[in-house]
Amino acid sequence: MNSKIKILNKKIISCNKCKRLKNFREKIAKEKRKQFQDQKYWGKPVTGFGDLDSEILMVGLAPAAHGGNRTGRVFTGDKSADFLFRCLHSANFSNKSKSIHVNDGLILKNIYLTVALKCVPPFDKPTADELTECFQYFQEELSMLKKLKTIVALGKIAFDSCLKFFNLKKKDFKFYHGAKYKILNNLELVASYHPSPRNVNTKRLDKKKMVFLLMGLK
Ligand code: SF4
Repeated sequence: MNSKIKILNKKIISCNKCKRLKNFREKIAKEKRKQFQDQKYWGKPVTGFGDLDSEILMVGLAPAAHGGNRTGRVFTGDKSADFLFRCLHSANFSNKSKSIHVNDGLILKNIYLTVALKCVPPFDKPTADELTECFQYFQEELSMLKKLKTIVALGKIAFDSCLKFFNLKKKDFKFYHGAKYKILNNLELVASYHPSPRNVNTKRLDKKKMVFLLMGLK
């Protein structure tokens, strides 16, 4: 990991700018889900991880309450992560098909994974001010991805957050799985359904559709 990203990640992890989100992430870390009662939750902002030399950035809205907020890594330790990493591994973007905890040896190849908002928000709904506040870190992550060509937004809320970040109007960008839009001269925004249990269980999203989208990024 280069020193710039280390400095940025340190700054992110110690951020307490949004009082409501600080209180919420800590509350979840204290109360815990029953099945994780014996574990120590991370309970802090969650940074991105992966290959900084890549052309692809995958973005979720925020860490999951008992996934990233528990394990300290995005898309780690929950059902969304299980599905996403089965697909990323099949498309050869990761060395493993599971994302369980920070010391599981998982390595991403040709992709960087992050969240637009670094703290888990209540009901997955950040306020406009919280999102804007956290965009400073998203901006810094983007500036470190020198070869970036494609942003893949996981889910409509993450997609809308990217539109907001780039000052684009929602009405001009329809969200559906596989939608691609040129948003800057050298940057494309790709929409993906979120790898949530709800989308997977209802077959709105399956492995074939997700791997097809991922293979199309290469
Ligand atoms: S959401 Fe972002 S800006 Fe707000 S406290 Fe968390 S890391 Fe800081």
